[in-house]
Amino acid sequence: MIRIKKSANTPPILTIQGVSETNRLIDFYNLNPTSYSSRLGVLSKNITKIHFDNTIYGDATVKALLKMDQHNKCCFCESKFTETSYGDVEHFRPKKAYKKNGAKSLTYPGYYWLAYNWNNLLFSCEICNRKHKRNEFPLDNELTRKPFHSHPNLLSNEDSLLINPIEDNPSDYITFKEEIPIPKNGSRKGATSIKVFGLERLNESRLENLKAIKLALTLTNIDETSIEEVNSAAISFKIKPLDLIESIRDAKSLYNSAAKDTAKFSLCVRCNFPHLPIN
Ligand SMILES: [Zn+2]
Repeated sequence: MIRIKKSANTPPILTIQGVSETNRLIDFYNLNPTSYSSRLGVLSKNITKIHFDNTIYGDATVKALLKMDQHNKCCFCESKFTETSYGDVEHFRPKKAYKKNGAKSLTYPGYYWLAYNWNNLLFSCEICNRKHKRNEFPLDNELTRKPFHSHPNLLSNEDSLLINPIEDNPSDYITFKEEIPIPKNGSRKGATSIKVFGLERLNESRLENLKAIKLALTLTNIDETSIEEVNSAAISFKIKPLDLIESIRDAKSLYNSAAKDTAKFSLCVRCNFPHLPIN
């Protein structure tokens, strides 16, 4: 995970239809708040469910801007997956219902008034969103979660146990020992985020990436302007000198890009190769 800088210009569909729909939901909720809420002894099937219009938050203009802001990477696992799947518009604070820390069941309603809020939307891979994060939204202290009928909410007081890449700097909470994510300085928020986002599932892919960078670093040490050095290295690599020069140039390109925001698994790369350029 890395910090995500979102475009300042919110997609118009969120500021027009999104705001209008949010106001409609709040008005409906205020008519009978208890009918939407989990309460002791009330079965989930008896709770009035709030319905959301996915053509608003899932509009192509919203998704395109999220993808651009995130360099076509998943906000959680930093994989580049858009060549093989569409990806999801993810709600950082779950809109329909949420799971408290360690809870087995969902609490209704979720942060429904943030369903169309630009600052609650992220672009994620389907596995992070649908298999791992889902409706999880644990807080360190549930008392900091304000009652939902006080909509002008005090979200900044919520001590979320999940790293929000829009507001937090993930590198404050997570570091990497080679390919393995570990909580920085024993951070509980880091540990919870690693678990909830399922970040360890990508250990093998991150390891392959690190190996490729290590090899590239070896190649960048060869002076491509020295015929003697190139010829000697080409013999040891058992390739033609011209092919080696091409590989050295590819390696330099990887060296320059591997730790940047645009690169996959960039936080892992930065932790392992702190001297690589990040801008
Ligand atoms: Zn992901």
